[in-house]
Amino acid sequence: MEKEHKREFTEKIYDYLHTIPEIGFKEFKTSTFIASELRKYGYEVIEKISGTGIVAILDSKLPGPNIAVRADMDALTFEKDGEKCNIHACGHDANSAMVLTAAKEIKKIGINNGKLFIIFQPAEEILGGAQSIIESGYIDEVEEMIGIHLRPIQEARLGEATPALVHGSSYRMIAKIKGLNAHGARPHLGVNAVDAAVLVVNAINAIRLDPRVSHSIKVTKLHAGGEATNIIPDEAEITMDMRAQNNEVMEEMIQKAKGAIISSAKAIGAQGNIEFVGGVPAAEYDDEMINIAKTAIEEELESAMEPLYTTGGEDFHFYTKELNIKTAYIGLGADLTPGLHHPKMKFDKKALGFGVNILKNIILKRLG
Ligand SMILES: [Zn+2]
Ligand SMILES: [Zn+2]
Repeated sequence: MEKEHKREFTEKIYDYLHTIPEIGFKEFKTSTFIASELRKYGYEVIEKISGTGIVAILDSKLPGPNIAVRADMDALTFEKDGEKCNIHACGHDANSAMVLTAAKEIKKIGINNGKLFIIFQPAEEILGGAQSIIESGYIDEVEEMIGIHLRPIQEARLGEATPALVHGSSYRMIAKIKGLNAHGARPHLGVNAVDAAVLVVNAINAIRLDPRVSHSIKVTKLHAGGEATNIIPDEAEITMDMRAQNNEVMEEMIQKAKGAIISSAKAIGAQGNIEFVGGVPAAEYDDEMINIAKTAIEEELESAMEPLYTTGGEDFHFYTKELNIKTAYIGLGADLTPGLHHPKMKFDKKALGFGVNILKNIILKRLG
């Protein structure tokens, strides 16, 4: 009966959040609702961080670990019949419903040591959300953190969960090539930015990195030349998409790409400038946190899956990179089809109950 009641609560929260999908940094209704719930449960609530972020604190006032549970709140924009609409196609409404329910139940049970931080961050999809919470300073004391996300059916089925969803690193780089205009009849007086761009593309494709670590770098956008076809163009813009399963390979990739751009443009007298480098770091989990999460999963489900490697990226890993927080991240099976970021994404809501209990188990292991 008690268990049934809990499940109904989480599903009700989920159903409500599902009706108010909002995009990154605009999660106004969502965060207002969540903040007022947390306050109702008895948490100290700091809200409106960068507009919509929330950090809620439950303090035992006794020494012990400072552990955080993090949810994301934003939805995605799709186009339907020529009109834009927001849909919770990545399941951040599910993540939020699970974390909110766990927060409610932990308050009821109470904690015996340390501090619990409940983080609802904005803008995971468009990035910037994790940094906005980090920069706020409200989680400076946090030492450990848990994240949770539903997985597509190809990665995990209902009743399965991993304590380590291993995201890769994903970056984007934009470079500009500066050449020299000249008349098409006198190309020797100019520096053709198209020629330089071609050299850059070939140099990028010739980058070699450790083949034991999965990675890729490719030019995904190239723009050069203008209206007139009888002018030697002096400008080109090149965009690269970069992936790597660990941060060392990504760092080496970024350095080699910068070198490739600058030196191959220079080979014909053009100038290569790096205009933008940005993205998310790869997962770097803590073994002890993974073990705690693994036991918590085993207590709820029959067994825990091995670490699950996924090609997607997550801004969650800035918490480790910038604040040195020890992390683990639950990937939760939910028979989710056809996939994340699909406008018709659906899943089995039974997973929500599993997620709540796994989170509760973890928190109680550290603070109970
Ligand atoms: Zn997503
Ligand atoms: Zn997501």
